[in-house]
Amino acid sequence: MVSLYSNLLKHKLTLASTVIALIISAYFYSNKPYFLFLIGGIIFVYFLTLVFGSGLIQLNYFVNSINKGTNKGIALTFDDGPNPIITPQILDILAKENIKASFFVIGHKIEEQKELLNRIYSEGHTIGNHSFSHTKQLTTSSTKKLIEDFSLCSETIKNVINENPLFFRPPFGVTNPRYNRAIKNLNMMSIGWSVRSLDTKTNDVAKLYNRTIKKISTGSILLFHDTQEVTVEVLPKIIKYCKNNGINIVSLPELINEKSYE
Ligand SMILES: [Zn+2]
Repeated sequence: MVSLYSNLLKHKLTLASTVIALIISAYFYSNKPYFLFLIGGIIFVYFLTLVFGSGLIQLNYFVNSINKGTNKGIALTFDDGPNPIITPQILDILAKENIKASFFVIGHKIEEQKELLNRIYSEGHTIGNHSFSHTKQLTTSSTKKLIEDFSLCSETIKNVINENPLFFRPPFGVTNPRYNRAIKNLNMMSIGWSVRSLDTKTNDVAKLYNRTIKKISTGSILLFHDTQEVTVEVLPKIIKYCKNNGINIVSLPELINEKSYE
C-alpha cells in the first residue's frame, strides 16, 4: 500500500485530482468538521486515480508502456486474433502492400489456429502476447495468477513459432501494480498505443477512417482488432492515406527500436 501511494504521488494526475478533490470536498463538507473534509477528499482521490490510472494505458500510471515510437513512421497493431475469418484477409492486404504489422494474440485462440499463427510469423509480422485467457477477471487477479496466464500464452506461442515474445499488450488496456510485477517478472515490455481506432465500437467505415487518420502523427502506434469485418474494409483506405501523405508504415520493433523476441 505504501509503495502504491508513493507511486501515485509521483504523478501529475494525482496532484491534479488531489486539488480537484480538495475543492469538491471543501464545497460539500464546508459545514462539517475537518476530518470529514479530509476523508471525502482521500476517497475521491483514491477512486479517481484508480479509474483513470488503470484504465488509460497512455498515462503510464501503474505500468510503463511504450505508447509511441521514437523513430519516424507509424506502426499497425492488431489485437485479439488469430481469427480464422478476419486474420487471413488482413494478412492478404498487408502482403499486397508489403507492410509488416504486429499481432497481439490471445493464447487460448492459438490452440485451434496454429497454422494461421505460423502464417502470420512466416510472412514477417511480429507476434506479441495478449494474455492466454483475455478475461475481465485478470484485472482483479493476483500477481501469481497473472504470471501463470501470461506465461501460458508465451509458451503456447513458442510451441508454434519457436520464439519467446517480449511484447505484451494488456487486455482492454487495463493495468495495475500486479500487472507491472507480472510483466517485469516475465521480462516482457508493455506495449500500448497512441491511436485507438475503436473498430470494435462501430461498423461505419467512413467514421472509423476519419477518426483514425485525424489522430495519426509521427511515431503513432495504431490499435486495430483482427476480429472485425470493418477493419478489413478500412485498412486499405488508411494505407492509401499514409502512402499519399508520405507516412511510412514500419514494423513495431523498428518504430520503437526494441527486439520483439528473446
Ligand atoms: Zn484484447
